[in-house]
Order: sequence, then C-alpha cells, then structure tokens
Amino acid sequence: MKAVDETDAAGVWDRPQAGLDVERIREDFPVLKQRVHGKPLVYFDNATTSQKPQVVIDALYTYYSAENASIHRGIHCLSEQATSAYEGARSKIKRFLNASREREIIFVRGTTEAINLVAQSYGRRFIREGDEIIISAMEHHSNIVPWQILCEQVGSRLRVVPINDDGELLIEEYERHLNEKTKLVSVVHVSNVLGTINPVKQVVEIAHRWNIPVLVDGAQAAPHLRVDVQELDCDFYAFSGHKLYGPTGIGVLYGKAELLEAMPPYQGGGDMIRSVTFEKTLYNTLPYKFEAGTPHIAGAIGLGAAVDYVNGIGLDRIFAYEQELLAYATAALSAVKDLRIIGTAQEKATIISFVLDGVHAHEIGTVLDQEGIAIRTGHHCAQPLMERFGVPAMARASLVFYNTKEEVVALARAVHEVRRVFQ
Ligand code: PLP
Repeated sequence: MKAVDETDAAGVWDRPQAGLDVERIREDFPVLKQRVHGKPLVYFDNATTSQKPQVVIDALYTYYSAENASIHRGIHCLSEQATSAYEGARSKIKRFLNASREREIIFVRGTTEAINLVAQSYGRRFIREGDEIIISAMEHHSNIVPWQILCEQVGSRLRVVPINDDGELLIEEYERHLNEKTKLVSVVHVSNVLGTINPVKQVVEIAHRWNIPVLVDGAQAAPHLRVDVQELDCDFYAFSGHKLYGPTGIGVLYGKAELLEAMPPYQGGGDMIRSVTFEKTLYNTLPYKFEAGTPHIAGAIGLGAAVDYVNGIGLDRIFAYEQELLAYATAALSAVKDLRIIGTAQEKATIISFVLDGVHAHEIGTVLDQEGIAIRTGHHCAQPLMERFGVPAMARASLVFYNTKEEVVALARAVHEVRRVFQ
C-alpha cells in the first residue's frame, strides 16, 4: 500500500525499536493470539481497556485458588496471607507513583470512583457557595460530572479552560481563570481523545501560587509515562488498573496525607472504623478510612502484578517504543485521503483520533472489525470535546507497547479500503 510504503521510505521506522522485543512481549498476552472474523486480532482499543499479561491472570488465579480470605480481620493463616498480599500491592503502587507513604494510596474501583471520592469528601467539606472549580475543555466525563454534581450540591461554579486547535491547553487562559474564589483544579494528564500530554507540573505550580490543590486524572497517563507524584507535587492523582494491564474494578487514588487526613470518609461501613457505638463512631486511620467494606482484594493483588510487569519492561523503554509507533501510525494514517487526525499536540501519547470525510466513525469501526481490527468509535465519554471540534463522533486507535508496525500497516490499509468503499 502506497501510503505506508512512503512512510517506510521516509525512514520513520529506520531506528531500532527502542530495544523492545515486541514479538517476545506479545507471547505474554494470551488474548492477542486469537483470530477475529478469521483474521489475526489487532487490538487498538487500549485506551478503553488494555489486555492482561499471563502474570496478572496467574496472580488472580493464585489468590482465588490458594489464598482467598478477607483481609485485616482474621487471625487465621489464609487471612494473614491475603492481607499481606493486599498490603504488598499497596507498597508496589506507592513505589510506582513515587509516593512518600503507603497511607497516601487508597484503593478504589477506578479513576471514576477516585474523582467522585475527592468531589464528595474534599469538595463537600471545603468547597462552598460561590467558589470555583477549574477543569479543562479536554476532560473525560468522569472529570466533569462529579464536579457538576458537587456544584449543584454546594452552589459552586465549574469553569473550563479552553484548548487550541491542536488540542493543547492554553496555559495563559488557565492562569487567567485562577482567582481567590478558585478552590480546586482538576485536569487530565493525558487526554483519552487527543492524546495530548498536559504540562501538569506547570499546572500544579501555577495553582499552588494561589494555594489551590490540584487533582490529576492519570487514567491515560499511568500506562504510558513514568509518574512521580512528588515531582509533580500534585495533591491528588487518580488512575485505573484495567488500563494499566491490571484487572477491572480496581484503581488508585493518591492523595497527600495532610489533605486526606482533613477529609471526612466517603463511604461508611466495615474496616473504615476504629470503634462504633450508636452514639458515635471513630474512624480508622489512613488509608482504611477511605476503604469501607470488603475491597477488591484480588484486583489489588492483580494490579500489583501488573505494575511489576510494566516495571520489568521499564516505562522509559515503553515510552520510547510507543513514540516510534506513534510517529509511524500518524504518518500512515495522515496519508489516507480525506482523513483528519484530531489531536496534533507537540507532546502526545499513542492515542490517535480521526475522522474521515463522508464516513461515520461507526462505519469505520464496523468495517475494521471485519478485518479483525478493534478500535473505539463514538464520543469517547467526552461529548464537550466533540462539540469543540465540531464532530458528532471520532474513530480512535490507541496503541501500546505490544502493538507492532505490521498492525499499523493493517490499520492504514483497512482505512484506505473504508474510504474507497464508502466514498
Ligand atoms: N479519565 C480518563 C482520561 C479516561 O480515559 C477514563 C476512561 O476511559 C476515565 C477517566 C474513567 O476511567 P474508569 O472508567 O476506569 O473509571
């Protein structure tokens, strides 16, 4: 196919592939071995959820087949084993984010729950009528709706920092949005639609000049970038396990201990208490104060295994390889006539959203599926962003380190074919 060959000729892929043995890595992911509609599966829907390496599947199997018990409660052997595996996973996450203390790591269901926790706990305690909360124009619904709910509850106001046509945050506009009424900034680290890597360190630094805390939605950043919460100096950081090669239903809220200490519990129930009487309940210490009920023990252990796996490859090597893949895929897709990539920021992760003149995104997704290629189509839980770019829907290919140049060629070839058939 001409466009892809031209890309090859341009030497985009001439460099070594960042030292990753991708064929070997693919062996670790059983799902990738299957065929879909008779074609080898090409999985480009990683931003929605990524595939799981065998070590993660094994960790779940081991927990349920040999260690299953509830945690923190029993004095029997299995319970102690499960507790130590669960708390071991917390330590791994602490190191993964470079947090300074285990008690700053709260296990939640995912990014969505992490943001809702902060909105309902921090927000209802510290945000009042007339106060302002700042988000950006490129947020996922998970970083919009919880704040709207809070605004309705307390009478505060949501303000939105605009972006440019490349999908980059307008930092000067952001600075102009801050004032003495601003009580919280909540921004995405990597956009799930545009792929933009936001300068969150700078965002935090500017907010801190006003003593405003910052929450970073790291759902799409944690799988691609090395995250150091101390270096970013963010006050909260949220991510989901299932996008980081871990199980569904588990995620993490990092929060600075002094803020978490000052916040009331988000939910009440078992494990989050120190003592209960009908008159008064004393709450448990961090992090348990925010982990009411029996948690997703297997999920936390599986997430720990996922973090070990990613660390074993190395996020720096992953990032370098993915950047090569991004350059190749961008060139290959750009060569398709009438195709427009939306999200052309200088700093990008491997998320490529596009529209094709005269063809609805769902039609692209359906035809690609017949070729065994899984992409996401629709509004990507970011309807205001669709409006910003004047489209009802986009097609999105999101790539990770187990994807290959050959898969990108298959994608570009299939999109050429979609254009030919539908136009
Ligand atoms: N934030 C961003 C940027 C996302 O991409 C997503 C999921 O796609 C979320 C938040 C919500 O994540 P979850 O559904 O795992 O809670």
